[in-house]
Amino acid sequence: MLLAEGNQHGAFLIRNCESQRGERSLSENPMLDCGKVKHYKLKKLENGHVFVSRARSFLTVQELVAHYSQEADGLCVRLGEPCKKMEAPQTHGLSYNTVDQWEIDRNSIKLLRKLGAGQFGEVFEGLWNETTAVAVKTLKPGTMDSEDFLREAQIMKRLRHAKLIQLYAVCTMEQPIYIITELMKNGSLLDYLQKDKGAMLGISDQIEMAAQVASGMAYLELQNYIHRDLAARNVLVGENNICKVADFGLARVFMKENENVYEAKEGTKFPVKWTAPEAMHDNKFSIKSDVWSFGVLLYEIMTFGQMPYPAMTNYQVVQRVPQGYRMPCPPNCPKVMYDIMMDCWKQDEPDRPTFETLQWKLEDFFDMDVTSYDDAARY
Ligand code: ATP
Repeated sequence: MLLAEGNQHGAFLIRNCESQRGERSLSENPMLDCGKVKHYKLKKLENGHVFVSRARSFLTVQELVAHYSQEADGLCVRLGEPCKKMEAPQTHGLSYNTVDQWEIDRNSIKLLRKLGAGQFGEVFEGLWNETTAVAVKTLKPGTMDSEDFLREAQIMKRLRHAKLIQLYAVCTMEQPIYIITELMKNGSLLDYLQKDKGAMLGISDQIEMAAQVASGMAYLELQNYIHRDLAARNVLVGENNICKVADFGLARVFMKENENVYEAKEGTKFPVKWTAPEAMHDNKFSIKSDVWSFGVLLYEIMTFGQMPYPAMTNYQVVQRVPQGYRMPCPPNCPKVMYDIMMDCWKQDEPDRPTFETLQWKLEDFFDMDVTSYDDAARY
């Protein structure tokens, strides 16, 4: 939002921290975002005073803002105007309207423009009932069995979390099948990292984005649901670096067709470089194989969307990873982040962390990054 047109240098935003655990934290973790890259956590003293730097606390957030509007006093910029308000992203509207109406009439959907294409079909920006903006995934005929898909989709529709792309409805009566979901303005995280916008992202943004993905995945973990294709291409980005996990569960329905066809996996875009060894070799998919993929996704985030194992072919990865090969620490990646990646890539599944642990670790690192402001301000 701070990047939106009309916001001047110094524009700031007070918001609730997106990546914090649980609902309870929503009002307890306000953030001060200023400029394009800097986030400050507003902390409270026992007497209720708020501060960014311990060196100076204020009775109210308003007083804090007034002070930093006078002088930067250690912030990266003196606060200017509050950032302009934008339309809130629509999240539950359509899902509310279609709660008992799973299959919707495809004539109620207008396809407006193509957003992209994947292995199994194309994605369009669409309008439902002339009012609601949606994303429409159209599946190439024959990519999956409709009944199989519908069974999975019933489960997918019940999964609701702020960090998961909400599945709204389907059109399965005719080909091509439509999957209708919430629309995310900035497309896939992979594109977002690779494009110029990625160059504007700082380490605290990278950590926060990773924490958001971990938060969505921690919810799936709690629901005993497996993603099976976690990667930056399957995370979508909205306003203000909001990240949501997409395409959960779809891989199971697609892959059925390719089961036991190892060459097909190699030949098609089977995500070899994201897949845990036990899933690759024994078809043993679990939340722990998702954790492995999350480690690779972290690598993508820290390298701004570089292809994992850049100098290796899929075949070399299949050969060498089970023998213990792991990617080295990417340039400019803090050791704490690399340590998390390596934990995700432990050979034995039980040794890998849970998503719950990954979420709080990343949230703590995000805090740490902000705390370092205190140190910087002191010297
Ligand atoms: P694959 O089919 O191999 O998984 P993919 O995930 O890139 O590849 P799709 O899921 O079909 O393929 O998506 C294609 C592109 O469409 C994405 O890269 C993204 O840019 C865009 N897209 C998909 N879903 C949405 C959405 N809900 N909102 C906005 N853009 C989307």
